[in-house]
Amino acid sequence: MYIVIIGAPGAGKGTQAVNIAKEMKLAHIASGDLFRQAVERGDELGARVEEYMTKGMLVPDEVTIKMILQRLTVDDCGNGVLLDGFPRNIKQAKALEDALKKRDKAIDRAIYIEVSEGELINRLTNRWICRQCQVAHQGGYNPPGEDEKCELCGGELYQRADDNKETIKKRLSVYFTDTMPVIEYYRQQDKLLEIDGEGSVEVITGRILNALQKREFINK
Ligand code: AMP
Repeated sequence: MYIVIIGAPGAGKGTQAVNIAKEMKLAHIASGDLFRQAVERGDELGARVEEYMTKGMLVPDEVTIKMILQRLTVDDCGNGVLLDGFPRNIKQAKALEDALKKRDKAIDRAIYIEVSEGELINRLTNRWICRQCQVAHQGGYNPPGEDEKCELCGGELYQRADDNKETIKKRLSVYFTDTMPVIEYYRQQDKLLEIDGEGSVEVITGRILNALQKREFINK
């Protein structure tokens, strides 16, 4: 079982991916998290990708595709995978399709979380991420202070380096140019589930699970 989750930066795909992967017992693979971990480790991959991330640009396809295809060979992927943040352009979508085809597999569903542009900017400039469970929290008028902990797991909260106005603008423009065609790609294959991404986290998780169920993808 292979599912991809697509949405603009700030659409809540990371948070939803954590919930859906847990509910469906899938391995959660988030390309952005893998890159951030490499940057934090300060290894060769981290050094290679840091500048692209800081600028809000996509990391070159050959680096990204290699990293994801390697990750897909790890044992925890045996029960299925939820890919979060990959594929982000048509080249990546085709490379994934080819690699899965070689193993007699295919993407089963693509979940597209739709949020208006104004709401995306609002969310991105106010979000705090938990280092432990990766869930994003909205700061609103009282942004969590440095001492605040994640209300779900008690982990430390931080603001992403690329959640600043300049980089947000770039990331959104990359999304509209490069990633929107991927949505069409899966629509044409009749794999797309379009989800209204405005509402509480729990409500949106419910919408996704319902949509998967309606297409007889999960039995509940
Ligand atoms: P994310 O956490 O998904 O918002 O990703 C953060 C950053 O990591 C992006 O702005 C890109 O620089 C890089 N990145 C993540 N996924 C990909 C991908 N599939 N292709 C290229 N770059 C990526």
